[in-house]
Amino acid sequence: MRGGDKMDIKIRNVTKKIKDAIVLDRVNMELKSGTVYGLQGKNGSGKTMLLRLLCGFILPSEGEVEINGKVLGKEISFPENTGVLIENPAFLDYFTGYDNLKILSEIRNKMTEKEIEEILEKVGLDPNNKRKYRKYSLGMKQRLGIACAFMEKPDLILLDEPTNALDPEGIECLHRLVEEAKERKALIILACHDAEELHQMADVVIQMERGRVMGG
Ligand code: ADP
Repeated sequence: MRGGDKMDIKIRNVTKKIKDAIVLDRVNMELKSGTVYGLQGKNGSGKTMLLRLLCGFILPSEGEVEINGKVLGKEISFPENTGVLIENPAFLDYFTGYDNLKILSEIRNKMTEKEIEEILEKVGLDPNNKRKYRKYSLGMKQRLGIACAFMEKPDLILLDEPTNALDPEGIECLHRLVEEAKERKALIILACHDAEELHQMADVVIQMERGRVMGG
């Protein structure tokens, strides 16, 4: 889907049970392109589960998720054109940041070397830095994860606690990338337990409690 509305997501009455626990409880939502949605809530309120649901990592026990008219887990296994930062990204320890992105970019072969350099610069990492990933600080790892989520200009971007381990300059880089993605009409959903940070980035704040969307 290109042009006007790139992404249209409908979550219909989704409940997710894992063993005896209800981790998502009758969630209903409609999400649109060009908007930044912020998931707010305490630890364990279901933010990560909701993000995992949207990228097809978990399937609903009841209800359904429709992405651009197609039901996740039935017509499609995962949403196309999606950038994800959930938990620890699987980068290769003995490769540099640049080489890690280069290897990942070869899956889809959409990016030039210059574009890989540019996205590294946008997150404040030096493309020529020869340091291996395993020697990266937590903040550098987080920056590389963010670069990876945004690098192919995806239509859907899912970020779990993207400000973790970032210094103010890193947060500034993240804000700029989110703003840029929004301008090209991507749909961005980010989870952040820090209310102040979240309100700075999100157009729409979604409050979660015990697997439920409050007021939703
Ligand atoms: P948040 O991201 O808001 O901190 P999560 O989505 O990670 O919250 O967790 C929601 C609920 O799901 C919590 O009660 C948590 O204990 C539970 N949970 C998380 N992972 C699992 C799992 N693998 N098996 C069972 N329950 C889980």
